[in-house]
Amino acid sequence: MTTVAAYAAPAAKAPLERTTIERRAVGEFDVLIDVKFAGICHSDIHQAREGWGTAIFPMVPGHEIAGVVSEVGPGVTKYAVGDRVGVGCMVDSCRACDNCRAGLQQYCVKRPTWTYNDVDKDGEPTYGGYSEKIVVDENYVVRIPDGLSLDVAAPLLCAGITTYSPLRHWNVGPGKKVAVVGFGGLGHMGVKIAHALGAEVTVLSQSLRKQDDGRRLGADHYHATSDPETFEKLKGTFDVILNTVSAPFDFAPFLALLRTGGAMVNVGLPEEPVEITLSSLFGNRRSVTSSNIGGIPETQEMLDFCAEHGLGAEIELIRADEINEAYERVLVSDVRYRFVIDATTI
Ligand SMILES: [Zn+2]
Ligand SMILES: [Zn+2]
Repeated sequence: MTTVAAYAAPAAKAPLERTTIERRAVGEFDVLIDVKFAGICHSDIHQAREGWGTAIFPMVPGHEIAGVVSEVGPGVTKYAVGDRVGVGCMVDSCRACDNCRAGLQQYCVKRPTWTYNDVDKDGEPTYGGYSEKIVVDENYVVRIPDGLSLDVAAPLLCAGITTYSPLRHWNVGPGKKVAVVGFGGLGHMGVKIAHALGAEVTVLSQSLRKQDDGRRLGADHYHATSDPETFEKLKGTFDVILNTVSAPFDFAPFLALLRTGGAMVNVGLPEEPVEITLSSLFGNRRSVTSSNIGGIPETQEMLDFCAEHGLGAEIELIRADEINEAYERVLVSDVRYRFVIDATTI
């Protein structure tokens, strides 16, 4: 076991503070990763504040991890010391069910082991990326291509794959019209990726405040949802609406923006149930659906795609002692567009 420094929430809703945690000894198929950067995902805050139900404390959040391999177990074949690697939301799964075999480990029927706020196969709690080092089985590690800097690559491990996987699954590409609802951590990656896939991209944001950024990052159009005319003008327009907003809102006006057969894919997870009237789907065979991150092979594909197209996240780099302040700013959407912790400051 190795003792490493980390930032943890000692209890629900308590501020995060510096502490130490134990990492397991490097096993046969494990890699030890020196964490260089860890992104702050909105779901870190949901979990640290028990917004999604009872959680495990102390909690070391962080599932957008970029670092460098510093030790490998004797059975490791995929990685070597010095490799640039990432870890996302999962660190294990059953490996035997149909979904695991198909590379859809995020939908493991026995459920995956999440990177933090979960219990590992050895019975120990999992601790995430707000720490100096992490030990992960090589099968749940991905390679960060040389073309991507580690700081802007870190948020791709959640925000990138969360948007890439549904855009690919619902065949977003040339000739398709996509709306991205919400222009924050997830939304800005959705815009970049949908644009790189060749689609016509529209941002639907509360205001036009970030319009210049939206267009710079690849949006063809940018509309305010606070303006009722937006919903008149865009009726029946989109093949796919990617909703990145995790606050509850009125679905009906958004569903009316879908073309016949269009799909609204929700990747934000509100803490409360949402209300949808079936008549808003019925007339045009529309669907409302959802998607959770991506499997390990698709996460690698996403990183390779992002490197090829020069897509990193837009980030604000912070010191570890600024995490609590950053949480407050995420909650009021005051970040352009992802906070990333410099792990050397932990
Ligand atoms: Zn996340
Ligand atoms: Zn499985």
